[in-house]
Amino acid sequence: MSPQRALLPRRTARSRVEIHLHLEGSISPARLRALWEVSGRDPSLPSNPESLYRHRSFPEFLQHFAQITKALNRPEDLAQITTDLCRRLKRQGVAAAEVFFSPVILTRRGIPFLEMLDAMDEAAARERARGGPALAWILDGVRQWGPGGMEENLRCAAMAAGRILGIGIGGDERSVPAEAFAALFHAARQMGLRTVAHAGEFDGPESVWKAVEVLGAERIGHGIRSAEDPLLLAMLRRRRIPLEVCPTSNLRTGVVRRWHDHPLPRLVAAGIRITVNTDDPALFRTSLHTEYQALQRRLGLGEAAALRIQTEGVRASFLSPSDKRRILQRVKVTNSTSRLIGRKTKS
Ligand SMILES: [Zn+2]
Repeated sequence: MSPQRALLPRRTARSRVEIHLHLEGSISPARLRALWEVSGRDPSLPSNPESLYRHRSFPEFLQHFAQITKALNRPEDLAQITTDLCRRLKRQGVAAAEVFFSPVILTRRGIPFLEMLDAMDEAAARERARGGPALAWILDGVRQWGPGGMEENLRCAAMAAGRILGIGIGGDERSVPAEAFAALFHAARQMGLRTVAHAGEFDGPESVWKAVEVLGAERIGHGIRSAEDPLLLAMLRRRRIPLEVCPTSNLRTGVVRRWHDHPLPRLVAAGIRITVNTDDPALFRTSLHTEYQALQRRLGLGEAAALRIQTEGVRASFLSPSDKRRILQRVKVTNSTSRLIGRKTKS
């Protein structure tokens, strides 16, 4: 079966694509509070949801992410956060998004996977019929849970044949070596699933080497520390492996200390395929629009470079060639229109 995505109706096509975005990281503080009102707040959590949205370190961010998932207890909760996400993406001009979801966190609490997926798919279809984005799901494994968690992801994907785009791996990069997951990534590809991996975010270039050479990942989540290794850069360039860079996320988790230190401009200069994404938009108080603004305002890229990154986001997605062409055409039209408006305003 083809792992390519379903066609986008022309009327919903917009000019942006997001390829690194976690469903659980899109839950706003207001939604979190509302979910607590329905099923009660886990007593281990703070009474003020806002405190889960500021992170002093990467480990603390991972802890907050896990704590927020405790508010998800019913398939309806998943439907609600999917609806919220679709509406936000629509406002951001997003035509399609490849969204991470970590089902094992919830199946281990007794919520059946197919009930969750049905609720999420129904919500996404409802919003898409109203001009929202096309969503596709990537099941994300929690690295520190070891291969057992990833096996459960593959079982979930097998249960929902044709409804899951791929698998990924996230969490603590230093916890379990890539070799432990190699056979499972291979098995996923045999099932027709696409494979991606978080690497080179918190851990160094070695982690990216392993994601490519041991796991066979087609795209790298973050990968920013590749900038430290010229041989790795040459390999990424030669094999045309895209990086899913999430600039604000890197600042908020403390992986990068200041905007001035962010390696994105160096990666662009090195000829690496760069895309820009939000990662966990609510947890990092960002949006795709903000990320594109940051390219020029914070990272000093010119308009042409920012446009190339937007285009790369479409090309690096797992959409079908015809869907890519349709969105790229819209990027071209949107860009030439805004340039025209800019010229008229100046004159
Ligand atoms: Zn991520």
